[in-house]
Amino acid sequence: MKYISFDNFKRLLDVLKDEYSVYVPVKSGEKRFFKRYQDFTEDIVIAEARTVEPAKAFFSRAREVVAEGFKDDVPYAPQKPFAIVGVKACDLKGFKVQDFVFKDHDYQDPFYMKAREENLIISADCSCAIDTCFCLALGLEPHPTEDFDLNLSQIKGGFLVDVGSQRGEALIEKQGSLFEDEREGQSIQREEQRQRVAKAVEDNIKMSAVPRQDRYKGVVEKKFESKIWEDEAKTCVECGACNTICPTCHCFLLYDQKDEQRMARLRIWDSCMIKDFARVAGGANPRGNLWMRLRNRFEKKFDYFPKVADIYACTGCGRCISACPAKIDIRKVLKKLVNDA
Ligand code: SF4
Ligand code: SF4
Repeated sequence: MKYISFDNFKRLLDVLKDEYSVYVPVKSGEKRFFKRYQDFTEDIVIAEARTVEPAKAFFSRAREVVAEGFKDDVPYAPQKPFAIVGVKACDLKGFKVQDFVFKDHDYQDPFYMKAREENLIISADCSCAIDTCFCLALGLEPHPTEDFDLNLSQIKGGFLVDVGSQRGEALIEKQGSLFEDEREGQSIQREEQRQRVAKAVEDNIKMSAVPRQDRYKGVVEKKFESKIWEDEAKTCVECGACNTICPTCHCFLLYDQKDEQRMARLRIWDSCMIKDFARVAGGANPRGNLWMRLRNRFEKKFDYFPKVADIYACTGCGRCISACPAKIDIRKVLKKLVNDA
């Protein structure tokens, strides 16, 4: 394993700027957001916990032009590939679901593929947990174990660096003078920190009594006709925040826009919680009631995805809990479903 000091890490970010659009998490109040890196500033927090917004936004844009006029070519905006630094394990798992939808099929989404192919992902261990984090209930450690180019574990004076891909290996080789071999005792420091963060997540899990993933199998199907859905949907205001903030949600809407110069087709994020999501021509709607849409959201995450992709489409990041103005808590719904089933 390699080690990089804080000073050399800052140099590394500066070097990466030549080749990539570099994004880092910055702290504002108690929250973290990805921001384009220009120079090192004190509000940059590589470790800590997940950002407010999901990292899926780098590859599947909230709004993008997918066709212009009647040209055959797709209108890619010219830009450098992304280097996303400080990505957490929950976002990396989110990419697995996004990849399944946009990449791992006969039809591959050209925009997603282009954004995904040249990027550099430098992930980081969480060094603390937010009170809504419950990743361990989904079998996910609060430190990345796969799907990164490099992973950083913050320790005294800098970071321990794991290599996860050939691209990561090549970067270390190219910038060799910035990296050192791991020193004695540093792995122990990392292990202690990992255990401390895992305990904080375990405490969250105990406090909310959210069941573990091995108990989710079949529960949505068993409780499909339950009153749980109506009860839970009572306070929902149909804002769609739970979907758009979620690292695994991926549904989108296509629409056309015309101005004097051009005709364009755009793609925007959509939400299955919104009434017209499933409406068809003629006005029929298979999920006309809000509680049906809430049930569909859980069905997709905890029934459909395990069946088709052998993965729960939830990472336990807790973003939907923080974002929901109606205080609908996925942990409580899962607890009710499992207990009642
Ligand atoms: S459903 Fe909620 S907790 Fe699960 S991945 Fe999506 S935002 Fe995170
Ligand atoms: S965030 Fe909450 S209020 Fe908004 S659609 Fe989702 S469940 Fe409903």
